[in-house]
Amino acid sequence: MSKISVRFLLGLLAGLGLSCATSPLGRQQLVFVPDSEMNAMGAQAFTQMKTAVPIDSNSTTNNYVHCVAMAIVKVSQSQLPVPSWEVVVFEDKTANAFALPGGKIGVHTGIFKVAKNADQLAVVIAHEVGHVIARHGAERVSETLAVQGGLNALGMVTKDQGLLLGLLGVGAQYGILLPHSRTQETEADLIGLDLMARAGFDPRASIQLWQNMEKEAGGQSPPEFLSTHPSSPNRIETLQAHLSQAIPLSNQARAEGRHSSCHA
Ligand SMILES: [Zn+2]
Repeated sequence: MSKISVRFLLGLLAGLGLSCATSPLGRQQLVFVPDSEMNAMGAQAFTQMKTAVPIDSNSTTNNYVHCVAMAIVKVSQSQLPVPSWEVVVFEDKTANAFALPGGKIGVHTGIFKVAKNADQLAVVIAHEVGHVIARHGAERVSETLAVQGGLNALGMVTKDQGLLLGLLGVGAQYGILLPHSRTQETEADLIGLDLMARAGFDPRASIQLWQNMEKEAGGQSPPEFLSTHPSSPNRIETLQAHLSQAIPLSNQARAEGRHSSCHA
């Protein structure tokens, strides 16, 4: 959606007395779908994924992914209070991962092609949790509903499985790809960098991870992750510019014993 139409909708909704939200980085957002509704949609999408995609039961892989994911969500509690998180490893060779409102995390085994160690996997998972913290799914659903006629159209979205998964960023299986905007990507990158650093992972791994993504993108099977999380030429530079803030957070977390050693 263009900036002008978002601004128009924000004005329209404000005129109707509907409240909007502000992202953790201070951006005004069009979000009017209640969190309870988003959590229900997240649960619905996750159930759908578990039905459609085989689940990996390898205990070493599961322990590794859980170790990284739980370290991230533990430090995210103040921004995103979720009573319990569900983490599932999907046996899928496409390089992808996602997090959904309501505390759901899915990691495809194909992501290990680009996220080659625990610090790099932490970058991916923290980026995904960053999208949920910044309510980007709620923003996408709200923008769609605003065009379709407001909250009355909510049933239309929840009944359309493909559209729902697409709006929540997991629609590749259904051919519905709705890439996040550059702004949303930068927000998720920076929130994610802060999260993984506070969990005691090495924030410098973010540079390596995105370099791996770029390298794979030039190969025969580009990472599916990039189709919903498009990279921009200045992504690495932006992350690099924030390392001076993130590294001390990571050092402090390690000094306080918050460094999780997660092994594949
Ligand atoms: Zn993203």
